[in-house]
Amino acid sequence: MSKYFSKKFDALEAYVPGEQPQDQKYIKLNTNESPFDPPRAVIPVIKDQSRKLRLYSDPESRELTQAVADYYGLEFDNVMVTNGSDEALNYAFLAFADDETPVVFPEITYGFYKVIATLNNIPYEEISLRDDFTIDVREYEGIGKTICLANPNAPTGIALSLEEIEQIVRTNPDNIIIVDEAYVDFGARSAVPLLYRYDNLLVTQTFSKSRSLAGGRLGFILGAKELIDDLKILKNSTNPYNVNRMTAAAGVVTLRENTYFKNSCQSIQFNRRYTQRALEELGFRVLPSSANFLFVRTDRISGEDLYLALKEKGVLVRHFSDPKISDWVRVTIGTKTQMDVFLSKVEEIFVEQDREQSKGE
Ligand code: PMP
Repeated sequence: MSKYFSKKFDALEAYVPGEQPQDQKYIKLNTNESPFDPPRAVIPVIKDQSRKLRLYSDPESRELTQAVADYYGLEFDNVMVTNGSDEALNYAFLAFADDETPVVFPEITYGFYKVIATLNNIPYEEISLRDDFTIDVREYEGIGKTICLANPNAPTGIALSLEEIEQIVRTNPDNIIIVDEAYVDFGARSAVPLLYRYDNLLVTQTFSKSRSLAGGRLGFILGAKELIDDLKILKNSTNPYNVNRMTAAAGVVTLRENTYFKNSCQSIQFNRRYTQRALEELGFRVLPSSANFLFVRTDRISGEDLYLALKEKGVLVRHFSDPKISDWVRVTIGTKTQMDVFLSKVEEIFVEQDREQSKGE
């Protein structure tokens, strides 16, 4: 840190993203990307837009915003598209939480929430999960603070029901509830239908996971027009051309390719069940996931050692050093072939462990 760096960031611990090795050496099951390419139809539109790179993108990304609105049965004014959903979450915290209205989120959740709260000088409170990693909805009822919930939660993968989300939204009418649906397409119920009835709800989603566009950086936030207008003030005061023209065009095409999208979500769900069963047979504890990842642990090897051993064998998974979850690893669901390699490497690690142990006896 330089001596010039503002003291106001003394408490800021930047978010540490998962490893992104730029060679293709690893089977990457560490940052919940899709194992499938985007639909082929995005390539010509990206090429076409690349010829116009001289020109700024549309600051409102009108075609894409309308396409998102149509897809979810909303109006243009209920949507703001963003540079990944992280950007939307940052604006939502900045707009709807402050000293008087702190933000509340579960103690185990997406690490970025804490970072953006600190960055924006917003006090935050964390609510513990139950021992089985589920969220106790009663703890959020009538709490009178801004609430942010990932649904399904990360890194657990456990989802709340639509009724539970509604209960939180309904009992906090004077506060904003942000539901981060980055993983919703893999098996949870979206809170979008609640937007027709509640004006204190914001829903964020992303093209990074189920729509295979992580590298394009595209997300969006949905809510009542008044809330979206507030967010647009912050967006236009920070980064007016937040979505580049190639990504915006790719987003429109991706939304049209609905069969491709449905099929890839189904494959992930199939591969998730397959991997869960195989891991349970190997003695793992696996949390019930509605996302494109599994959160798993075993008594045979620590989370960190399993992560390191897998990395040595060419498979990247995610390990978090937070002591509350350091026994666990998060495994992104890839193709069936990738999951078979992952499972065979786990078995190999166990065999090697047994061999070492019998040597020592
Ligand atoms: N929410 C959750 C729970 C996530 O895990 C992620 C991905 N790291 C995001 C939001 C943000 O993803 P993106 O900015 O790529 O849309």
